[in-house]
Amino acid sequence: MTSTLNADPAELAKFSELAHRWWDLDGEFRPLHQINPLRLDWINSLSPLKGQRVLDVGCGGGILADAMARSGAQVMGIDLAAKPLRVAQLHALEAQTPNVEYRDVSAEALALQQPGSFGVVTCMEMLEHVPDPASVVRACAALVKPGGWVFFSTLNRNPKSFLLAIVGAEYVLNMLPRGTHEYAKMIRPSELASYCRGAELNLRHTRGMAYNPLTRRYWMNADTSVNYLFATQKPADAAL
Ligand code: SAH
Repeated sequence: MTSTLNADPAELAKFSELAHRWWDLDGEFRPLHQINPLRLDWINSLSPLKGQRVLDVGCGGGILADAMARSGAQVMGIDLAAKPLRVAQLHALEAQTPNVEYRDVSAEALALQQPGSFGVVTCMEMLEHVPDPASVVRACAALVKPGGWVFFSTLNRNPKSFLLAIVGAEYVLNMLPRGTHEYAKMIRPSELASYCRGAELNLRHTRGMAYNPLTRRYWMNADTSVNYLFATQKPADAAL
């Protein structure tokens, strides 16, 4: 592991600035609220959350972490942006969400402290914001137990995803603040697959996420050309 933090301060500032809007269902984070039941169901169908110890890496204001705790998991959410973490904590307090805690720690640092301690690790819409995504993937692999699941989601990098996720979402539909995503940091499925292989995570399932701007609805399908998700698993006989 390198001694420098694998984080971009400008990215963290972007999310901190908007933190107070995190739980506004019609605000800048509306897309995360909308996709949340879809990704939660998918995770639950592959690795039932109830009773599991779960880590959410890059949890932000806690949209997924909170929902996973409400599904009966014991959840730790981690992020490096201070304000979203405080918003997440406050939300848990106000909504009286059981069994969720939030910590300001990097995945890499936590992996050194608590290797192999989570049944499920989730890392959603985060890898495209970090300088070295492969290092985060390795940390997630180190944090999950042998036989446990690691879920990733991110944005593909191709002309279509540029048009839809950047031009469409940030400039035409104003769904996301301008500058939310940077084309060069978006990640092709082949690249994410290679990070997973490098971390000895087996890729089990891949799904795409589609959006209809007219109905303003999302659904999951097999088309990974824009938003996509990976379900990966650490071999049951992996060494800790
Ligand atoms: N995973 C959440 C939030 C996605 S927004 C969800 O899907 O609902 C992206 C989050 O990644 C932000 O909260 C941002 O602060 C966080 N992030 C960006 N770089 C990070 C890093 N290097 N380490 C941890 N979190 C990071």
